[in-house]
Amino acid sequence: RFISLEGGEGAGKSTQAAALAAALEARGVAVVVTREPGGSEGAEAIRGLLLGGDVSRWSSHSEALLFAAARADHVEKRIRPALEAGQWVICDRFVDSTRAYQGAQDIDDAAILALHAFGSKGLLPDRTLVLEIDHNQGAERAAARDAGAADRFAQRGPDFHAAVAAQFRRIAEHEPDRVRLVDATATPDVVTQRLIEALADLLP
Ligand code: C5P
Repeated sequence: RFISLEGGEGAGKSTQAAALAAALEARGVAVVVTREPGGSEGAEAIRGLLLGGDVSRWSSHSEALLFAAARADHVEKRIRPALEAGQWVICDRFVDSTRAYQGAQDIDDAAILALHAFGSKGLLPDRTLVLEIDHNQGAERAAARDAGAADRFAQRGPDFHAAVAAQFRRIAEHEPDRVRLVDATATPDVVTQRLIEALADLLP
């Protein structure tokens, strides 16, 4: 199974990816945890290009292409081989991040999905869990964790992050079977429990 975790900055995606992997492993599932942008050698190199400068380094179109290129490499080198070997893959961000972040700018959803069809043969997760917290609270958490994240958040401003959150909700409304919103304001253990519940129908 392929699971992606999504949400804005500081929603707790990486903490929850690790916790969810541990919970699945306790049920006898072999799990690979990975993240975007990155997750393979080529994609990590593209991550350096994407996150290395300030947020205005790339136009929204070039950004969408770079994310799609990184994802194509990650899917081919790491995600598909793991899925074919029968492992579960938990990915911290996937195509819905591009739909939310670049979609909150001026890139249409159809264009992002067309790039995804070309680059990654349209691979979609079996379930996408969107961790929802207030974007200002998320910004505080992300700032406490790393200065780069705080800087990126500040450069784009709160309105942008509100638009990203709205994009995630819109995707969830349109694809309710795949995409579930999870309230991530609780303690980490409670949030992990909610994620497991949102995967109940997929568990062995
Ligand atoms: O939260 P995380 O560490 O995954 O953040 C990666 C960075 O990449 C975030 O600052 C996010 O704003 C940005 N991003 C983006 N477009 C995407 C995915 C991530 O701008 N499609």
